[in-house]
Amino acid sequence: KSLFESVELAPRDPILGLVEQYNADTRANKVNLGVGVYYDNEGRIPLLECVSQAEIAHIEAHAARGYLPIEGIPGYNKGAQTLLLGKDSPLLASGRVLTAQALGGTGALKIGADFLKQLLPTSKVVISDPSWENHRALFERAGFTVETYSYYDAATRGLNFDGMLAALGSLPEQTIVILHACCHNPTGVDPTFEQWEKIAEVVKNKNLVPFLDIAYQGFGDGIEEDAAVVRLFAQQDITMLISSSFSKSFSLYGERVGALTLITSSNEERGRVLSQLKRVIRTNYSNPPTHGGTVVSTVLNTPELYTLWTNELAAMRERIRNMRVQLVEKLKAHGVTQNFDFMLAQRGMFSYSGLTKDQVDRLRDEHGVYAVSSGRICVAALNDRNIDYVAEAIAKVLA
Ligand code: PMP
Repeated sequence: KSLFESVELAPRDPILGLVEQYNADTRANKVNLGVGVYYDNEGRIPLLECVSQAEIAHIEAHAARGYLPIEGIPGYNKGAQTLLLGKDSPLLASGRVLTAQALGGTGALKIGADFLKQLLPTSKVVISDPSWENHRALFERAGFTVETYSYYDAATRGLNFDGMLAALGSLPEQTIVILHACCHNPTGVDPTFEQWEKIAEVVKNKNLVPFLDIAYQGFGDGIEEDAAVVRLFAQQDITMLISSSFSKSFSLYGERVGALTLITSSNEERGRVLSQLKRVIRTNYSNPPTHGGTVVSTVLNTPELYTLWTNELAAMRERIRNMRVQLVEKLKAHGVTQNFDFMLAQRGMFSYSGLTKDQVDRLRDEHGVYAVSSGRICVAALNDRNIDYVAEAIAKVLA
């Protein structure tokens, strides 16, 4: 009898399942809007010039590949903190901020979750309704019960702010609240800054534990602007966890570049917290890999490369914004009477299009345009060649 006889087949990952189906589709004009990846106007995943230059320098240095410290490359961690808090933040000099290089944003969430489970074994985790689909699974796997708080309002295609605030206000103390700091995935709907101020107030007054997830810094309004929520919480003296992902902002998906940052209340506390976090990392993967971390660290700490990066990131952000504008215009041009202006207010790579599951099925079956069944489309997968076809296909399923 096989040891694995009783193992059941797990359900397919919905988004990766979509990719398989897309790859098998033989239609020449097929378009995959189901992905969570930025494509350039040529439909390719870009290799950023700043990354390319940092990689060449790294290869030419013939550096040995010894183990990194458990918490990763110091310059990388400092760079990640600076992106979050701003270079003039007094917190940076205070010795209260701790950052560990992590295996992507997912890895940062995972070591954060394991650490929190040890610290707050009876706390629950709440995520937005809806949220990035891995949030729930990841925190459940770490041993937490995961519930949701109100977030998206399908009727207004916007935020259910009153519902969100009421839900947060009714949580028991020390509930762990996962918040998308900018460019909410999957909806593209973010609270305004004034709404964030109210959210921060509730988090502070109710003694909740915020875990900010920032996977799209630079894709909303800009690198500094998109960190406003992190800086707001920091100013309110809230102790918290933050997971950063550089997968999209550096177009380094496969290198697993991310970071976990904890804002503690003193330098002495930071030391104790770091010692425990290092145990979590040591028993998960021991220490992070060198290549992606070295590249990101080089870009963040070399002024010319940093400038190059901010320009390349701005170009990605502006291209996406331009695709939003064009899509809304082209839908109108193809005779769509519903108002799609909400797409212009949405932030980041995604848009909750409002298409129903049925319409998403028809888009795929009749037109070869793939979207997530929730109606989420990746605006960053549109380009000058496919946008007209996509707008026409959407118009047809809406007619
Ligand atoms: N959080 C959110 C909200 C995301 O959308 C993603 C990536 N899709 C991640 C975390 C994970 O990022 P990474 O690929 O760096 O693990």
